[in-house]
Amino acid sequence: MFQIKTLSFVLEKEPKYNEEGTLLFLTKKFGLIRVTATGLYKANAKLASWTEPPSCVWATLSVSGEQHNPHYRLITLSPKKFFSPLHQSYQSLSWYFFYVRLLKHFLPFNIQMPKIFSLWQEIISAEESWLEEKTQKINFIYFTVKFLKIEGLCPHWQNCTACGEKWPTDKTAFFWPNEPGLLCQKCSQSLAKNNFFVQNNPHSFQFFNILSLEKPLVLPKNLVRVPSEIIKILKISEESTTLTQTLAEIFSRSKINDSDIIKTRNFLLIFLASSL
Ligand SMILES: [Zn+2]
Repeated sequence: MFQIKTLSFVLEKEPKYNEEGTLLFLTKKFGLIRVTATGLYKANAKLASWTEPPSCVWATLSVSGEQHNPHYRLITLSPKKFFSPLHQSYQSLSWYFFYVRLLKHFLPFNIQMPKIFSLWQEIISAEESWLEEKTQKINFIYFTVKFLKIEGLCPHWQNCTACGEKWPTDKTAFFWPNEPGLLCQKCSQSLAKNNFFVQNNPHSFQFFNILSLEKPLVLPKNLVRVPSEIIKILKISEESTTLTQTLAEIFSRSKINDSDIIKTRNFLLIFLASSL
């Protein structure tokens, strides 16, 4: 057994029994981990409020068990930052928990992931972007594009995933459910010729159930057209090095309107659901 201090984001908190509970942490040193802690639900205790997600804390943990299956217990904790704007609306919080759902689904536990940690730090700390619906959508688009790239699930949006052809930004691309990226017209046509029917994973619908969307999303069973407006926004998010730069680029282009931003966000939701 040893002790370690690590910068951690409190992602989720769950009761166990009495005042004992489990915290889901995204840590700098161990990636995603579950931590057992006492006093999490003690009335008026500082620890109880400091561990209300989302927050960022310095946590001292005891680590025991086997290397491939470690057990973490909280020893002490000091708060670093609370993300109060995220608590201001139900809408922001539901999106926050959707991001957490993505991390839990796609990331392995107990593995250090510096790039994911930095990305999370960036998008959670961009508090003003959570306050408005439009900037929150761009926050989600930027996060998802970067997340998929780091995870190697869709490293780029500017080339056909089958033949590698790069398309001009004013050209339509295609998406075939379960494919790890966009397709050019030629490749999409040869897939469509085979005319097979994609069976969606039944869990895909549950994936969205914590979100209140403008209208329910329909998961495609065959070819989807991806208009150039969507590709433009994906490309900006892919090429920008920060969220601030993505926001500035999108807002400086008068040709990008709200409906393009909604379409891009919904496309990414469909893309994620089809990668489950
Ligand atoms: Zn192609």
